[in-house]
Amino acid sequence: MRRLTPPGMNVEATLSACIGSIRDADLSGRLALVKDFIVSAELDYSNHGAEGSLHLVEGADGVNGTVSTAEMERVYKGTFVKSKATREYYGAIKSASENDICPLCSQRTISQLDHYLPQSANPAFTVTPLNLVPVCSECNKTKLALQAAVAGDQTFHPYFEDADDGRWLFAEVLETTPAALVFRTSPPDNWGAVKSQRISSHFRIFKLAELYASHAAVEISDIRFGLISMSRRNAPHKISAHLREVALSRAAAHANSWRRAAYEALADSQWFCAGGYR
Ligand SMILES: [Zn+2]
Repeated sequence: MRRLTPPGMNVEATLSACIGSIRDADLSGRLALVKDFIVSAELDYSNHGAEGSLHLVEGADGVNGTVSTAEMERVYKGTFVKSKATREYYGAIKSASENDICPLCSQRTISQLDHYLPQSANPAFTVTPLNLVPVCSECNKTKLALQAAVAGDQTFHPYFEDADDGRWLFAEVLETTPAALVFRTSPPDNWGAVKSQRISSHFRIFKLAELYASHAAVEISDIRFGLISMSRRNAPHKISAHLREVALSRAAAHANSWRRAAYEALADSQWFCAGGYR
């Protein structure tokens, strides 16, 4: 999970650009009628986001009885994503993450925007920048239209929450052939109950244990040759020191990267360092 800087534009800008480029005069007229409603809903969203209570935002069918949910979907897919007038906004939101890495899984590449509160149940936030998070297609598919019922079920929102203000991702070595790693969350003591529950919900919903285990298996296979060569001149404790140095470098880049957790677990495992890598 990675924190992102919230988009530098508000819904007044994105909605106005949509209204200006929709050819259907009736729809653009009705969108203009609900503009104030959508702008004030954005403020509500922002307050709930800051308090970590977006699960309390009530869903609605359509926008203020004037624009239907299906029409808002058309505004998003047909106009916001495609129109020349809105492309700049769409592009700016989509490119907000460092190295184009998905902030939800911290692993795959961004390919689209996800509505944090699902568009189908919250049409007023269809083009609200704060509700649009750049994500990879797998994370978007995995989450679908899920909306949390209680605070602890909420996934992390990259514009409002920081998951890197404490260490929560750890791994353990499975003494199998070939060696494997299993990942788990263990939130820091100073995190409250809700934040701790949210990290485990996020981890479960986006299937991060499986994702990281499979990448770690590839990593172990990639370093095997080097470790075997090293073992000809070095005792297991030197191999452990080498792995720990790699972990330190990974940790400096990201406190909760799976690579940091993986290398720490490998360095800690006497079994692995004594030949478990073979
Ligand atoms: Zn992802």
